[in-house]
Amino acid sequence: MPFLYVILNYIEKIRKIYNIHLFLFGLYFKTLNFEEERHINIAGAGPAGLTAAIVLAKHGYMARVYEMSPDVGHRMNVGFQGLENWSSDKDITVLLKDIGIDINFLCVPYYGGDIYAPGIAPLKIKSGKPIFYLVKRGAGGGSLDEGLKKQAIALGVEILFNRRIAPSPEEAVIMGTGPKTADFIAAGITFDTEMKDQAAVVFDDEIAPKGYAYLLVNNGCGTAATVIYNDCKNEKKYFDNMLEFFKNKRPFDIKNEKRFGGCGNFFIGDTQVYHNKIYIGEAAGFQDYLWGFGMRYAILSGYMAANSIISGLNYDLLWKKELKPILETSLVNRYLFEKFGNTGYRYLAKRFAKGDPGDFLKRNYNQSFLKNLLLPIAKSRYKQGTTL
Ligand SMILES: Cc1cc2nc3c(=O)[nH]c(=O)nc-3n(C[C@H](O)[C@H](O)[C@H](O)COP(=O)(O)OP(=O)(O)OC[C@H]3O[C@@H](n4cnc5c(N)ncnc54)[C@H](O)[C@@H]3O)c2cc1C
Repeated sequence: MPFLYVILNYIEKIRKIYNIHLFLFGLYFKTLNFEEERHINIAGAGPAGLTAAIVLAKHGYMARVYEMSPDVGHRMNVGFQGLENWSSDKDITVLLKDIGIDINFLCVPYYGGDIYAPGIAPLKIKSGKPIFYLVKRGAGGGSLDEGLKKQAIALGVEILFNRRIAPSPEEAVIMGTGPKTADFIAAGITFDTEMKDQAAVVFDDEIAPKGYAYLLVNNGCGTAATVIYNDCKNEKKYFDNMLEFFKNKRPFDIKNEKRFGGCGNFFIGDTQVYHNKIYIGEAAGFQDYLWGFGMRYAILSGYMAANSIISGLNYDLLWKKELKPILETSLVNRYLFEKFGNTGYRYLAKRFAKGDPGDFLKRNYNQSFLKNLLLPIAKSRYKQGTTL
C-alpha cells in the first residue's frame, strides 16, 4: 500500500508539473491534492468560506482566507437576514453546533409574524418552533460574519483582506466567492426605530414581482426590503412601493435609514470540483431558488468541503446527497410560485395562517412524488449551471 501511494504521488507530481488532467484518476486526485497539503487556501470570507476555514482549522489544517474586501460582510451590509429553520427536523442552531460552529453572534428565534397578500386583510402566522433565526449581516455589531471571523481567527486562521486569490490552476483552493451573476435582486433599507420586535412578509407583484418584501425589527433596529425576480430594471419603482406599503399598513417609524442593494445566484451544476478547486456556497449556485435563503446552504457546503478534505470523501458525492434534493425541490417551488398571481398569493397566505407555518414550509421544501414529477419541466424552464 505505501508503495502504491508513493507511485500515485509521483504520478500526481508529474501531472502537476505538466498540468495534465487525468480524467480516469480525476476523482482520486481531487482529494489527493488537498490531502497532501495541510495548507488550504480559501477564496471569500463569507459564511461558506469561513465555515470551511473553521472546520479545517479544528482538524489541524492551516487555513488561509483571501477576502477581496477590507473586512467581512462588505457585500452584506444588509441588516437582518433569516437563517431558515424549516427545511429539516433538526434545529439549525443545533446543526451549527454539531458541525463545530459556535453561536457567538446575534441569533434570535422568530416564531411568526404577519403575512400580506393583495385584497385580503393581513394574517397572523405562528409556529410551535422557531421558523427562522434572525441574524445580522455585515461587519461588526454582533453579525454572523463577525462571529465567524472571530471563531476563525481564534483557531489560527489567517485572513488576508483586500486580497484576491492569485489564479493558479495547480493550486488547491476552496472557492467561496459568492454569486457570479444576479438571478434576483434585493433593494432595501436598514434603520433605527422605536417599533417593537416583529416580522412581516408581503406577496404582491406590485411590490416584489415574483418575490416578496419583508420587514424585520429587533431591539430598535430594522430592515425592510423588496426581493425581485422579474422586471428587475424597475427596481426603484418596487423599492418605493415597498416603503409606501409599510408606511401605509403599519406603524412605521424609521430614523437613520441607509439604503442597500444585493443579488443572488442559483444554479445546479454537474460538478463542484473543477481544476483543483472546490466550489462552495453561492459560488456553487447553492441557493434557495424559491426565496433566496442561501445562508444555510453556504454554511453546510463549507462544512462539506472541509469534511471532504479531512476525510478524503468526494465532495461532489457529499453535496449531491445532502443538498441537491433540496435545491431541486426549491427549483420546482420557484417554477410553481412564478405561476402564482394574486389568487395564488392569497391562497399561500391563507395556507400559512391555517396550520403550523413551519410544518407547511418543511413539507414544501422537501421532496415529494409530485415535485419529482415536475422537476424535468422546471429544469427546462431555468438555466442549469453545467460549467464553472
Ligand atoms: C439582500 C439580501 C438578503 C438576503 N437574505 C437572506 C436571508 O434572509 N436568509 C438567507 O439564508 N439568505 C439570504 N440571502 C442570501 C445569503 O446572504 C447568501 O446566500 C450567503 O451570504 C452566501 O454566502 P457565501 O459565503 O456563499 O457568499 P457571500 O456571503 O457572498 O461571501 C462571498 C465573499 O467572497 C468575497 N469575494 C468575492 N470574490 C472574491 C475573490 N476573487 N477573492 C477573494 N474574495 C472574494 C466577497 O467579497 C464576499 O465577502 C440574502 C442575500 C441578499 C443579497
